[in-house]
Amino acid sequence: METITVANVTQSLAKNIHPITAHDANVLYQHGTLALLVPGLLEGTTTIGELLKHGDTGIGTGEGLDGELIILDGVAYKIGQSGVAEQVPSDFTMPFANSHRAAFQFQCSREDIGLEALNERIVEANGRANTFFSVKVHGTFSFMKTRAVIKQQAPYPTLLEVADRQAIFLRHDVTGTMLGYFSPVMFHGAAVAGFHEHFLSDDHTFGGHVLDAVLSHGEIYSQVFDTLVTHLPVDDPEYRNHDFSQDNIAEAISSAEGDTAH
Ligand SMILES: [Zn+2]
Repeated sequence: METITVANVTQSLAKNIHPITAHDANVLYQHGTLALLVPGLLEGTTTIGELLKHGDTGIGTGEGLDGELIILDGVAYKIGQSGVAEQVPSDFTMPFANSHRAAFQFQCSREDIGLEALNERIVEANGRANTFFSVKVHGTFSFMKTRAVIKQQAPYPTLLEVADRQAIFLRHDVTGTMLGYFSPVMFHGAAVAGFHEHFLSDDHTFGGHVLDAVLSHGEIYSQVFDTLVTHLPVDDPEYRNHDFSQDNIAEAISSAEGDTAH
């Protein structure tokens, strides 16, 4: 697995973070579209092994919304309804996931800042509201609230129906990595417009889909993409035959996923 290291950057590069084209570090790979989760097309149509061919870093969800996935340094972890992170095998399947080849650039250090303000400033500093980028925050969080959806069985419910079938976790003074993707508003439906962030503690005992957080102190890294590759599950008959015109996709995604502040 190839990783590009941006070594020993000590000052803020916020205004100078551009796509790095070497080793395809400018490419965000996505399997599926968030829209397919809305009517409950939750069958796993790719594997961790396949996803890792396109990157060493990423997030996703398992078949039947089985947990929250986070991939760091080529290793995939799942946080299920227990809140404990466990490594998943390469044949683990997913309906939706993102990955990319890590080549993060240091953006800034931050202290005592809530998630909403932090996310706003990351976009402002970058001037990247219409750009896909990944954000990685490593540090100590005085407060971290995450969730994990409870695995659903076929026939699968809709995204709105599973919204209340989730476990919520709270931790204080936890050190770890928050990894996420920012998607421009015009791509709402293909992804969540705005940030979609997952967390993994350094001791791998805790994590999940980030609902709210306060960063006590930490470093913020960004990686900007100029290319989005979307791989669709065209061999899945349920996906092929589904009529999306009846699904209120944008609204359902906003309701179930879009507001990370609550
Ligand atoms: Zn998530």
